Parts: sequence; C-alpha cells; structure tokens
Amino acid sequence: MYLFLHLLFTIASGLLSVKPNTEIQKPNIILIFADDLAYGDLGIYGAKGWTTPHLDQLAKDGARFSQFYVPHAVCTASRAALLTGTYANRLELYGAIDHSANHGLNPDETTIAEMLKANGYQTGMVGKWHLGHHPEFLPTRQGFDSYFGLPYSNDMWPNHPEVKGYYPPLPLIEGETTIAYLEDQRELTTWYTQKSLEFIEQNHNQPFFLYLAHSMPHVPLYVSDKFKGKSEQGLYGDVMMEIDWSIGEIRKKLEALGLTENTLIIFTSDNGPWLSYGGHAGLQAGLREGKGTSWEGGIRVPTIFTWPGTIPVQTVQNQPAMTIDILPTLANLTGSPLPHFPIDGRDIWPLIQGKSMEDKPYYAYYNKNELQAVIYGKWKLVFPHTYRTIPSGTEMRNDGLPVKYTQVKLEKAELYDLSKDPGETRDLSSQFPEIMSRMNGFAEVARKDLGDALTEREGNGNRKAGRIKKD
Ligand code: MG
Repeated sequence: MYLFLHLLFTIASGLLSVKPNTEIQKPNIILIFADDLAYGDLGIYGAKGWTTPHLDQLAKDGARFSQFYVPHAVCTASRAALLTGTYANRLELYGAIDHSANHGLNPDETTIAEMLKANGYQTGMVGKWHLGHHPEFLPTRQGFDSYFGLPYSNDMWPNHPEVKGYYPPLPLIEGETTIAYLEDQRELTTWYTQKSLEFIEQNHNQPFFLYLAHSMPHVPLYVSDKFKGKSEQGLYGDVMMEIDWSIGEIRKKLEALGLTENTLIIFTSDNGPWLSYGGHAGLQAGLREGKGTSWEGGIRVPTIFTWPGTIPVQTVQNQPAMTIDILPTLANLTGSPLPHFPIDGRDIWPLIQGKSMEDKPYYAYYNKNELQAVIYGKWKLVFPHTYRTIPSGTEMRNDGLPVKYTQVKLEKAELYDLSKDPGETRDLSSQFPEIMSRMNGFAEVARKDLGDALTEREGNGNRKAGRIKKD
C-alpha cells in the first residue's frame, strides 16, 4: 500500500514539477549554515572578543531575526529539518550519526536542492553533509549537482580527544569520491570558500542554489595562518573571524559578477554552543544552556536574510520562526512546487520583509523523540524532562578538551515569556492557566502527529529514514 501511494505521489509531483512559473524572476540563493555557532557569536548579536564585520554588514543590508530557531539542537537532526522543511523525528533522524550508521535521509524525501533543481536551478553543496555517508545518501543523490566536503562532523576522526580507536580517518569527498583523508583541518574554511567562489563563477549565467555548510566553529577548531592570533579571545575568535572573512569573499564575488541584487543570502547555524568545550565554544548571550538541549541556548540561532533591493535594509524581526520555514519560503519566492510529502514549515516571506504575521500555532522542540518544549509567539512551555548541564563551580578548559556534563531533571512543566525573559529564569505556569491549557492543546496535536517518548505516545504522521540494502 505504502509503495503504491508513494508511486502515486511521485507521479503526481513529477507532473506538477514540469510546470514552469514564468512570472517569477528566480533569484540565486546562497544558504550558509555554520556548525555550533552560538546566538551571541556575531558582532551585531553582541559578540565580544572578536569582530565579524562582514556578517554585521550582511545583517544591516537585510533582515535579522532575534528569535529564530532550529527544531533540534544537534547536527544531523537540525540539517534534516533545514533541508526538508520537516521535523527530523518525522523522518526518523535523530542526534548526530557517524561512520557506523547504516541509514540517512530517505532518498524519497524532497530537499531544497531537489525542489530548486526541478525548477531549473543549478545546485551545489560545499561543506558538512551529515545526512548519511553511504553513496546512496550523499548530496549528489539528494538534488545537488556538485559536492565538496565532509560526510559528517569534523570531530569524528582518529584524533578525537576522548574517543580513542573508534573513528576511522576523516574522508574529504568530491562528488562521490573520497579525494583525501584529513590529517589536519587548518585549510578547511579556506577550501570551502574557494569551492563556493568557483561554483558561483561557473554558474553566474543561470539561477543557482549554493548550500555552504561550514564545519567550523564545531570542535576541533582549526584556522588557517591568515587568521591565527587575529582575535583577542583566542582560537574560537580566530575561527569566527575566518568564517566572517568567507562571507566577505562571497559577497565580493557576487558584486564583481553583478549578482548582488539578484541573490538572496541566508545565514544561520545548526544549534547553539557546545558548552562543555569551554573556551572552544561560542557565546550564550544570556540564554539558558546550549547545544543538545531544548533551552534557548540550544535552539535559538543568529539568522540573517539579505537580498539588496528586495528585503528592506536594517530590518529586525522579533517574531519567532524556524529553519523548517526556509524551504516553503523559497518555494514561494521561486515559484517551485512544494514537496509531495507533507512538511512542517510555513512561508515566512512577510516576516523576512519586516512585516508581521499571525503566530504559528506552535513550533515543536524534539530531542530524539521527546517533545521537550513548544513555542507560540512569545510563550514557551517546557515539559518535564532530563537534560544535560555543567555543574556549577566546574573549572572550564580552553585547550580543546571538554568537561563532563551531568544530567538533571526538570520535574514539572514550566512557562516562560520569552519577550521579557529570554534567559528562561521565571516560571509563569501558575499565573497563566489559560496560556498553559492552550499550549498543552498544541502539544497534544504534536504528540498525535509526531509521537512523544516522554508521554509514551506513537505518532501517526511519521515516515522512515533511508537504509542501506543489506546482503
Ligand atoms: Mg552542530
């Protein structure tokens, strides 16, 4: 039955996708996704200890969001959500997969790249993929014409500071071929930048989509000699300054090719700071906790949309939005049909232009398949769950070695007004029973659809990850 329905969907979407939309001028799209880059890591979001002039200018030339989210504060899940407009647990993808995984993003799902390719775009990816390293799951099988980068995280290698003898050499892949195993990573940001510039140059005569997923500032941190010692803070700041340089190079190239006003640049991150790495992690900016949690420090990321001449300059948007909204927004902007399977995001083009929209009934925050929080406008309801934290009084390190997390339990549901309390310090659950009941209602909708391990619920709207064929 599933196969039959799927076949039907595939045929239907094939018919839909051949209809070109000639009224819409297709902008080039560059989507830049940094890894573990924290909410406070850009100058314009309050960074201290280093400078990010190109990112700050990018924000001034367009729109920046103060309350933009990832639905899952971890690499693989966050990337699956970004590229499909869908909660990753719906796609049976959780956490951060490594070389031992026999699964990946299901090839039947539609990525942004596939959506745009069907609408005449040239598509390229540079950087960290992390949605399955077997050939059948690589970017080239998910709508990208070209690929250069790492199949998973840059710490999944023999030099991991804690896990010895587990990870094989770290492959650098071009297309579907491993062209090298990395001994060090000092040139990684430089290579990614060069490859991105080449892609832009080669495709400047037609609409293109470039997905640049930086491996940095995820640990282990590496920087080229150009940026060594450039920041006051040390290595993390140097790495941030090199990522900032990369943005500057891309904008310079667009300008030189006359593409500035025909290109939408989106910049964001996959999750918040990996706090256990101390001085090798980003800046929380007053938010609670970090990567791997559903507190604001884990899920809220700095986010910029810039399209000179189309998005008003100096726009600051305070309404919430999420990475799952990017795919449907791009579908609208480019006149591309939406994926054939249901997705979770919505078109937020009005928000990007600085207008207001009715708040989405809820954004859900899942860790594995635990529904840990929902957000509705300024309100956030956090459910009882266990999360990781660093015990107070722990001496943090600055040498690339992590300290240990401990697990703590939130015993009861808590409600926060994020407009007044982004640090999530004052529980208002007893003061706003009507908001509580409304948001509990939203959570029930999510549980029915997606499931929830915390309340032992199975969802009825979930799909399967892709799996390699076993002999
Ligand atoms: Mg990450």
